[in-house]
Amino acid sequence: MPNRLTLHDTLTRTEREVTPLDGKTLRFYCCGPTVYGPAHIGNFRTFVAQDIMRRVVEAGGTPTLHVRNITDVDDKTIRDSQKAGQSLTDFTRGWTEKFHADCTVLNLLAPHVEPSAVAHIPHQIAMIEKLIANGHAYAGSDGSVYFRVASFKDYGKLSHLEDRELRLGASEAASATDWDEYTKDSLTDFALWKARKPEDGANYWPSPWGEGRPGWHLECSAMILEYLGEDFDLHSGGVDLIFPHHENEIAQSCCSTHGKFAHHWMHVAHLTVDGAKMSKSLGNLYTLEDLAKRGYSAVEVRYVLIYGHYSAPLNFTLHSLDSARQALQKLAKADRALSGISPALQHSTTPGPFAEAWKLLCHDLNVPGALGSIFGTLNKLKPATLSNEEATTMRGGLNFMLNTLGLQLPAIVAEAPTEVPADIQTLAQQRWDAKQAKDWATADTLRKQLESAGWLIKDSKEGFTVVPK
Ligand code: AMP
Ligand code: ZN
Repeated sequence: MPNRLTLHDTLTRTEREVTPLDGKTLRFYCCGPTVYGPAHIGNFRTFVAQDIMRRVVEAGGTPTLHVRNITDVDDKTIRDSQKAGQSLTDFTRGWTEKFHADCTVLNLLAPHVEPSAVAHIPHQIAMIEKLIANGHAYAGSDGSVYFRVASFKDYGKLSHLEDRELRLGASEAASATDWDEYTKDSLTDFALWKARKPEDGANYWPSPWGEGRPGWHLECSAMILEYLGEDFDLHSGGVDLIFPHHENEIAQSCCSTHGKFAHHWMHVAHLTVDGAKMSKSLGNLYTLEDLAKRGYSAVEVRYVLIYGHYSAPLNFTLHSLDSARQALQKLAKADRALSGISPALQHSTTPGPFAEAWKLLCHDLNVPGALGSIFGTLNKLKPATLSNEEATTMRGGLNFMLNTLGLQLPAIVAEAPTEVPADIQTLAQQRWDAKQAKDWATADTLRKQLESAGWLIKDSKEGFTVVPK
């Protein structure tokens, strides 16, 4: 196919083609969920955008290697497992299963590798050892280990933050935690290893620096090295991860390997509610379950999440789910109209008449533009005038686009039957009679007359029905 995906790159602030470094497989990493409760639809906005990115790359003929981690140890998982009276393992297993179930109903492709932080403690310890040996990290007097930010000249490159802002951000982060700042050489330095505290309960591991657990940022660097190597194609997450999480990942990885780390950065803007980020801490979140209770299906949620460009904030309203329902019904009806002419669905690998929609998708994942173009093409559709061959190409193309967007069409909800006016019914009867008399010319003229009045005729062996166009 002629179009290859181009994506905005946060690091260079340019739109660049997404091409595999090895010329074969696009290898990419997405920061995964912290499993201490159900993921909300804000989290899923990011995961759905990444899913579409993968589908577009694969639809364009390039295989992918998709790695997404599970954060199963941090302050929140430890705190809430204790509140729930469960071991960390049992607690995070339950929420991981729930996450997987939600991903399935949202039609998200499962990552090829889904490593967990707890299962990679030795990998994280090995990375800290390298960083200490290289002079980029040091052990504090409390048994924690810190990354020395001043030792990495490129720190701040991704987030484009000035030195002053970095200090500000770090001091906010520091004041939000109970870190003893006197064990660090600088406020900006961040923890690679956190010494064991009484509130950690049974959740600690041995290390050369004493018992404790890894800092949150480290897991991604260690697992990326394990599954994607020192250089890989693309890294993605929500915009809230640019600083400090991704900035810290770059520092850890570039200072412990010889690689460049990610060659492309894709960040997804937030789903908001009344202008504020949807988040657990603000209590303004919706889960799939909340919306199912209100009668909305997962595909309707998926539609809402993609109906806004991934790089711009999207405000969530319940009303948008009603619009999504209507749009999906329209798509399902178009597919049904085409299936009347071309019953066997050919799984197409090309967009056919939806070439413009495909092109828009390839241009920085313009999903809203692509959907607009799909509807534009469908609005011009006159099924009665299509040959079987044309309908097959069109249906295949529609199917290609829907698969690339990960939209599974819902069942068509029956509408109240439309009254057919008497004069239309008479014309339709005359056409049927002409057809029975093999007077094809008259039958054809009458069919066209009906069509221009907004009615379609569907023939069967037993007779005919008249439906609105
Ligand atoms: P977490 O489980 O908090 O680690 O987040 C998982 C993913 O969801 C990360 O990529 C976050 O950046 C992303 N995320 C969190 N809140 C939102 C939101 N309101 N809108 C879009 N993405 C979000
Ligand atoms: Zn990460």
